[in-house]
Amino acid sequence: MNIKLFGTAAAEGWPGLFCNCKACNTAKELGGKNIRTRSSGLIDGVLKIDFPPDTLMHVLYHGLDIRSIEALLFTHAHDDHFAVSELQYRRSGFVANPLTNVLPVYGPPDVISELTNRSAAQPMPYTLTTLSPWETIEIAGYKVTPIIAQHDTSLTCYNYLIQNSAGKTLLYASDTGWYHEETWTFLLGKRIDGIVCECTNGPKEDAWSAHMNISSVLRLREKLIETGSFRADGKMIATHFSHWGALTHDEFETLLNPHNIQTAYDGIEFEI
Ligand SMILES: [Zn+2]
Ligand SMILES: [Zn+2]
Ligand SMILES: [Zn+2]
Repeated sequence: MNIKLFGTAAAEGWPGLFCNCKACNTAKELGGKNIRTRSSGLIDGVLKIDFPPDTLMHVLYHGLDIRSIEALLFTHAHDDHFAVSELQYRRSGFVANPLTNVLPVYGPPDVISELTNRSAAQPMPYTLTTLSPWETIEIAGYKVTPIIAQHDTSLTCYNYLIQNSAGKTLLYASDTGWYHEETWTFLLGKRIDGIVCECTNGPKEDAWSAHMNISSVLRLREKLIETGSFRADGKMIATHFSHWGALTHDEFETLLNPHNIQTAYDGIEFEI
């Protein structure tokens, strides 16, 4: 399974859209891997996870072949993952060579109801399917299982187990928070080959608990290893970083590498 991450920032990007804090200014000066757009992922070029407001950036600068995706899977209805207005540009009035396929879109109830409302006002080339937690569904040839994140109690927020036909399983955990017991119980006995986990708060210990920080990312990894779901040499990538965490890419690497966790950057690609 090939996984590519197109954006690796939290909601406002890094540098933040309107921010001039030290961390944002440093990112502007250093450039490269310190420039982070809003988060999304792609499995084997066909299964797209989330549609952030920077998707056009990902097409322009990171080789996202958006016309080739076969299905779109949403984690939750926050703006940085669900730039709903952008989806209309797949309609024939905006595309010179119209796409012939209707794109299957899957997600939690809040995402699908919003898209249903928009489609009622203006037909869109999507089929919409609401996913239920814990229930495995086949999407674009993958077995996809939504699990409940601990992220925003006003919405249904999913993380996903995504398994390919060879039996390799990815845990896509963004946005996440520290899981409730129900989710940990569900994960017992699962075998996970790779993990993409948000690390929004970076080194901050006193930040918003609906997101992870370095210590909770380490705890999540340890817990999955202890319960036999994940191997110590398994591939794990931290992503969805916020400028409030204020570390450079290199500083994140210094802290995460010793734990066999890779620091994501926009355009990072890896195999499990
Ligand atoms: Zn987010
Ligand atoms: Zn900033
Ligand atoms: Zn979120």
